Amino acid sequence: MVKVLVIGGAGYIGSHVALELIDKSYDVTVYDNLSTGQKANLTQEAKFIQGDILDFQSLKNAMKGVDAVIHLAGKKAVGESMQNPQLYAVNNMQGSINILNAMVEENVKNIVFSSSAAVYGIPQYLPIDEQHPKNPMNFYGYTKCMMEDLMAWYEKLKGIRYMALRYFNAVGYDALKRVKGKEANPQNLLPIIMDAATSRRDGFQIFGNDYDTKDGTCERDYIHVSDLATAHEKAIHKLFSGEQSRCLNLGTGKTVSVQQVVDAAEQVIGKPLKYSYAPRRAGDPAVLVAKADLAFKVLGWTPRYTDIKEIIQTTWNMEI
Ligand code: UDP
Repeated sequence: MVKVLVIGGAGYIGSHVALELIDKSYDVTVYDNLSTGQKANLTQEAKFIQGDILDFQSLKNAMKGVDAVIHLAGKKAVGESMQNPQLYAVNNMQGSINILNAMVEENVKNIVFSSSAAVYGIPQYLPIDEQHPKNPMNFYGYTKCMMEDLMAWYEKLKGIRYMALRYFNAVGYDALKRVKGKEANPQNLLPIIMDAATSRRDGFQIFGNDYDTKDGTCERDYIHVSDLATAHEKAIHKLFSGEQSRCLNLGTGKTVSVQQVVDAAEQVIGKPLKYSYAPRRAGDPAVLVAKADLAFKVLGWTPRYTDIKEIIQTTWNMEI
């Protein structure tokens, strides 16, 4: 049985990845400090170590006998990364360095890393392929770039092989409702809509309706979290079958506008939502969309979820 350490496996994406690995009969240990991850997200079939990526000794202990690491731990709020870069330097950068160094010491040779479309910054062309220049416009994106660069060096110098998976907009929940924890203080569109729909907040705003897009609101590439999870499993599988290290976009290649998300949410929820139009949010590009062919080619991966209503339904199912 292949032994995988899922670092950050109690978080939103990590818990879906852990489930996918369990479904595919991997031996899974989740390593998480539970700062934002939740015990409710853990499946009984995975072992659990409560530990911090800043605790090098604890990380090293967790890596004994492990065949591959999936690293999804770290801070992820773009705005916060600009206000408090120190937090991101320590958690995302020092934490990632610790993971690589622990891998060297424990002779673990394979890593799948949770990267982001934030590495690209303002798109110079669309759809964004993996050759697009990396030019992050926030510190969060910079931390992802740094780890990608580090992994390339550790491959040359220490033989560590990697897959960096650049997520576009992750949305949805496990259709079988096995992930139980909701994110506290969500920063992203769909969980904010859910909070408004359930009166956890008093309505929401659409940031900008004067963009040069299909309906004036921003367009994004929304990818279901369970599809992200299957890509991680395939990435591990490919690393073990000798595939070269890669950076791969994970998206659907299709755009959905903010207005379309809101309209679809109203249909799924079955009632009108309270919202208003507000000025553009600083730093938001009009359109972000992946050219995702390389992941299809390298991993043999295609997203199962392509209908935004179906995706939103899996999120709404968490509420009802
Ligand atoms: N958005 C919005 N209202 C909100 C939150 C987000 O209109 O309360 C928009 C945001 O401007 C962007 C899209 O929804 O165009 C997706 O934003 P999110 O923060 O979920 O992800 P991002 O694309 O920034 O990674």
